[in-house]
Amino acid sequence: MHDIHYTLTSRQPGTHIFNVTLRIANPDPAGQLLWLPNWIPGSYMIRDFSRNIVKLSAQEGERKLAVTPCNKSSWRVEPCSGPLTIMYEVYAWDLSVRSAHLDETHAYFNGSSVFLAVAGQEHLPHGVQLLRPASPLAGDWLVATSMGENGAERFGFGEYAAATYEELIDHPVEMGNFSHVIFDACDVPHDIIISGRHRADLQRMAADLQRICTAQIEFFGRPAPFTRYVFLIQAIGNGYGGLEHRASTSLLVSRDDLPSLSEPVAPGESYRRFLGLASHEYFHSWNVKRIKPLVFSSYALQQEVHTPLLWAFEGITSYYDDLFLLRSGLINTDVYLEMLGVQISRHLRMPGRFKQSLSDSSFDAWTKYYKQDENSPNAITSYYVKGSLAALCLDLRIRQITQQRHSLDDVMRQLWQEFGLTGAGVENEDIRLLCERLTGVSLQAFFHLLLNSTEELPLAELLKEQGVAYSLRGAEAQADAGGKAAAPDAKLRPVMGVRWQAAEGGIQLTHVLDAGAAQQAGLSAQDVIVAVDGLRVSSANFERAIGGYEVGAEVEVHFFRRDELMRRQVRLCAPMLDTCYLALIDDVAAIERAMNWMLGKTDLVGLTGESNGS
Ligand code: ZN
Repeated sequence: MHDIHYTLTSRQPGTHIFNVTLRIANPDPAGQLLWLPNWIPGSYMIRDFSRNIVKLSAQEGERKLAVTPCNKSSWRVEPCSGPLTIMYEVYAWDLSVRSAHLDETHAYFNGSSVFLAVAGQEHLPHGVQLLRPASPLAGDWLVATSMGENGAERFGFGEYAAATYEELIDHPVEMGNFSHVIFDACDVPHDIIISGRHRADLQRMAADLQRICTAQIEFFGRPAPFTRYVFLIQAIGNGYGGLEHRASTSLLVSRDDLPSLSEPVAPGESYRRFLGLASHEYFHSWNVKRIKPLVFSSYALQQEVHTPLLWAFEGITSYYDDLFLLRSGLINTDVYLEMLGVQISRHLRMPGRFKQSLSDSSFDAWTKYYKQDENSPNAITSYYVKGSLAALCLDLRIRQITQQRHSLDDVMRQLWQEFGLTGAGVENEDIRLLCERLTGVSLQAFFHLLLNSTEELPLAELLKEQGVAYSLRGAEAQADAGGKAAAPDAKLRPVMGVRWQAAEGGIQLTHVLDAGAAQQAGLSAQDVIVAVDGLRVSSANFERAIGGYEVGAEVEVHFFRRDELMRRQVRLCAPMLDTCYLALIDDVAAIERAMNWMLGKTDLVGLTGESNGS
């Protein structure tokens, strides 16, 4: 047995309690320190997982030992000569990809929520025994994880092992009666595990994910950086989220985003959302799990670890996630350009892009992007959304400078060679330096524009040069995500400069945007508008009511702030030109240039990043 060994089970899954026993063969004779992460890599927020640790006790043989808390997430055990046994419970009732969830239908956990670390011995191999929970409903449960078996059969309860603590907590575990399908990509077995109720077409999912995975492995170059990969999918009524790991990913998705047997050959919007998420997390297997910022080389898991580079790890990954749907043949270029238009519209609808740079957005992820509130669109920019568009700009700029001989694809492959394969950490200037080596010109000013300024990105110019026309218009309604040209009969529709949701008795403002009509008039997020010019409004008629006026008209708005009825005159404004749509420029050479960009072809080497999928 390993010198550090955990046994995890649940004596009563219905209470959401995991029972964990940790045996330490050689505890620190001065008193063993134990600790639990306060955050999980990939999700940059302090979550204090230790708040769910209950009934922590220690003993040496039969002798009880004192356990003294040192801070919110570490404890010191009274000195002993060992072996030392620690027992504790973990309350697990968070249905997300970040912590742990347990009931009589299934169990899911990240090691960062359930395994106390043994200070000073984190570098040693760790053993885990997973025991079937004590419930008749768990009689047919199986185990899915990318953690290596150490005696357990594939999908069985029993012994597993990891080389270090950091690896131990990078293999989430699902236990339950899940559906399962397997496929190979570049000779690597991939498991798709789905728990939760669903009627998904598993063969379709396997076929489509196989194309994405194959295209990405070939993009970075064989062999894949893992010998097995597991998609752990939790299907629920309404949800969206993913977390990347070294040989697996956890995805929480709406069951309606999974393909049914009647899914059309060209994936619909909701299935595309799932495929994009899976593609995103899979790309992270290279970009952030192995090519990583220097400060992530050895994670400090008890406090925030700031980096200005999240734009590169989340933004570049977000750029390639949808691009790989195209490059693996799952969508066509029209759909891709529409999706890119939607992404640009998202960016343009954040007035905060004029206040926060991409670099600062990355650095402050912990307290800003991850802690969004009603003011966020006015105050921040997204290192996902703007980061993906900065990646697009960089890709097009490299193509422009090198006359289509190089692209961002070459940068990613070089990052993989120099950092991913060697384990060297990426420092703040490394990506710029690599791009400069590739292009032979200084990119200092261009990187400053993308990362450190709040100037608009040069999207229109760069896209035009690559053969794509960039157009802007006003949104036709709150639900208008962009990506498409306006309806032919669309007229200029006045707006209040707000985002809103349905509420009892009216509509509730969720965000009041900078310089909009509502902000000028003194309306605020959380206000519930009940009437416009004396007529009741609801979610069904609010936009029609406002749309009936001319731009510049003044209307009387009645609203409740908390329980106080208030009244303001609001001068309706013209919609911002924040809705983008793209189209190929109708010219043979331009179309070829645009196609080469999207499909990852360069003039130097012909096909570079394209998969063989048709
Ligand atoms: Zn990501």
